[in-house]
Amino acid sequence: MTPISPVFSYIASGVSKYRWNNHTTDPVEQRRAQSIDFMKEMPWVNDPAIATALTELKGLMFAPEDLYYLKRMGIEAPFHSGKEAVDFIEKENIRIIFDTPAEEGVHAQYDFYKNIITINKRYKNTTDFAVMLAIAEAILHETGHAKDKDGNSSIQEELNFLGMNAIAHRAFLKKYGDIFSDSNEPIINDGVSLYAKLFFDTDPSKNALINRIKEKYGDLPAGDRLHPPGKIARTAKKQL
Ligand SMILES: [Zn+2]
Repeated sequence: MTPISPVFSYIASGVSKYRWNNHTTDPVEQRRAQSIDFMKEMPWVNDPAIATALTELKGLMFAPEDLYYLKRMGIEAPFHSGKEAVDFIEKENIRIIFDTPAEEGVHAQYDFYKNIITINKRYKNTTDFAVMLAIAEAILHETGHAKDKDGNSSIQEELNFLGMNAIAHRAFLKKYGDIFSDSNEPIINDGVSLYAKLFFDTDPSKNALINRIKEKYGDLPAGDRLHPPGKIARTAKKQL
C-alpha cells in the first residue's frame, strides 16, 4: 500500500506525543512562553508571497449563506473570516515558512510542537497572484489546526477546515473572478479549487467528497473530542 499524502497535512508526530508524556511542563505552554515580537522578529512577513497571502487573508470575508451551507452539511468553520485567522496567527506567534514538507505531495502543514506552518518550498518566490491566494487558503487551513491546541486530527476536523477552504475559495472567486482556472499548480488544481467543487457539488449525498476524504484522510478517526463526527465523516469511515 502506498502511503497516504493528505493535501493539507498535520504533523501529530510520535515525537511530540512522546515529549508530551515525558515532560512535566506542558509543551504548548513552553512554546507560548517563547513569545517574540511579531513584526520585528518574523522575517517571513518580509517574504512577498507570504505577506501578500496574509494581506489577502486578512481582507477575506465569507458569504453568510456559504457559512450556513456548511453548517447544514455538519461542517463547523473554526474562523468566520480571514481576519479572525490572521489575528490568531499574530496572537499565537505562529511562524510561516517555505520548506520541504514531511511527506511528498503535501502543499502545507502545521507542526504543533514547533508552532510553524510550512508551505511547500516549490511555491517560494512565486509571482503568480493565484498561487498567493492559494497559499492564503493553505495558511487558513493550517491555522485551524493550530487553534485546536492538541496533537490530533480527525476526519471531521479535516472536513471543517477543508469546508472553510471551500468558502474562502468562493470568496476569492467572487472578489477576483476566475483567476484559478488556467493554473497547472497542484496547490490549486489538487487543492483549493478541487475542494470548492467537492463541497458545493450538486450531488446531495456528496459521494465525490466522501471518496476524496476516504482516500486522503481515511486513516484518521471519524471524529475527536473537539470535532464530533457528522454524517459525512461517519459515512467516509464506515465505507473503508
Ligand atoms: Zn488538515
